[in-house]
Amino acid sequence: SAPGSRAVLADLPLRDDLRGRSPYGAPQLDVPFPLNTNENPYPPPPELVADITAAVQEIAGTLHRYPDRDAIALRDDLARYLAESTGVPLTVANLWAANGSNEILQQILQAFGGPGRVALGFEPSYSMHPIIAGGTRTEWAPTPRRTDFSLDVEEAVKVLAERSPDVVFVTSPNNPTGQSIPLDDLRALVEAAPGIVVVDEAYAEFSPQESAVALIDEFPTQVIVSRTMSKAFAFAGGRLGYLAAAPAVVDALLLVRLPYHLSALTQAAARAALRHADQTLASVHALAAERDRVAAALAVLGADVVPSDANFVLFGQFDDAPAAWKSYLDEGVLIRDVGIPGFLRVTVGTPVENDAFLAASKEIIK
Ligand code: PMP
Repeated sequence: SAPGSRAVLADLPLRDDLRGRSPYGAPQLDVPFPLNTNENPYPPPPELVADITAAVQEIAGTLHRYPDRDAIALRDDLARYLAESTGVPLTVANLWAANGSNEILQQILQAFGGPGRVALGFEPSYSMHPIIAGGTRTEWAPTPRRTDFSLDVEEAVKVLAERSPDVVFVTSPNNPTGQSIPLDDLRALVEAAPGIVVVDEAYAEFSPQESAVALIDEFPTQVIVSRTMSKAFAFAGGRLGYLAAAPAVVDALLLVRLPYHLSALTQAAARAALRHADQTLASVHALAAERDRVAAALAVLGADVVPSDANFVLFGQFDDAPAAWKSYLDEGVLIRDVGIPGFLRVTVGTPVENDAFLAASKEIIK
């Protein structure tokens, strides 16, 4: 056995507030139909693979040097992409990038959360928000959504006034439920919030809703929009998340980021991927159409289907969701039990993958 395996976690002088917690744990299993982590099912096309390879080859000869600490060229590319796709003028000073949007969210809480501070989220939502709050010793204030998982904005405004959280997370479209929040509702939340409002737009490309980047100029000390290349961009393995906010917010994050956090390889590969954005994002329309097909087919089978603007669908209701999850796995279909009683979440895959999921659903939903 591994040296040191006499010791178990409980033997370590771990921080008291981390005792008894569970790590993030989406199963990584080798199955025919992996539909559990909201990835884009289409691999990079050969032209993009060639472009990334060439970019990495070029950078390989300079790996004895540290990368550009501020990732200026990459942020400039991201600014151009986001400005073009949202219609909001943005510059390199508005953008910040990190290893996945999880690191973006962690840096935000390192700067604006922490001991003595409170972060609030509307649950069910992305399970990493409370975990990152825990890791940064930010108190987590969970606030329930309606029973149909929509956000009661009037109630939310009241809660924000009462609790005065330092940081509010609004996920739009929301993971794992799929609904997005109209801009006017978001504005009402920002006006009611005393501090930072992080709009987690990991799935924005799949949604017809206007992006919250439109609110940055109106609320420069409050609004931070988090994005990722992991979903629509089909770049989950590349680990590239980013945010758009007022330049002062980027100044704040420089205080907590580790120097050279984004490797030269990551920066070069992400820039190559951005050069192929049009081609990659063409899959978004196909995936949205497949999402609607899957949702409609589930409804025909008698499932409760939560309306989704993202690349996944939450559906139920199962008497025993963990048992149903296992039945899917037995059919080679890996979906996600997000811990909502009676419900499971399926990521939209290729038509073949979706057909396999629907065939299994026919047996499992009765
Ligand atoms: N936000 C939300 C809402 C997500 O669903 C995810 C991925 N599951 C992330 C952020 C983080 O993704 P990444 O770190 O790959 O950018």
